[in-house]
Amino acid sequence: MSGKKNALKKLTERREQSQIDGKIDDSRLYAGAPMHFYCKYCGVATEVLPELYTGIPKTVCDACQTLVKKGWHDNKMPSFPYH
Ligand SMILES: [Zn+2]
Repeated sequence: MSGKKNALKKLTERREQSQIDGKIDDSRLYAGAPMHFYCKYCGVATEVLPELYTGIPKTVCDACQTLVKKGWHDNKMPSFPYH
């Protein structure tokens, strides 16, 4: 299997897993709870930051970042369910 094919297969697997795992809905957590961030492409957790975080949260995971850099990513942003 080529590196590209394998990488895209892994992307599909991450998306499938994210559909199952879902995301944490920060709006339903108590005030002051940390914020959860997910990859916009595959839905894996990228960062958990304090509610009053400063800076820009990471919204693309390392694996997707690599795909984007190589020009292999399909750039689709599916929606993933919340818990
Ligand atoms: Zn990703």
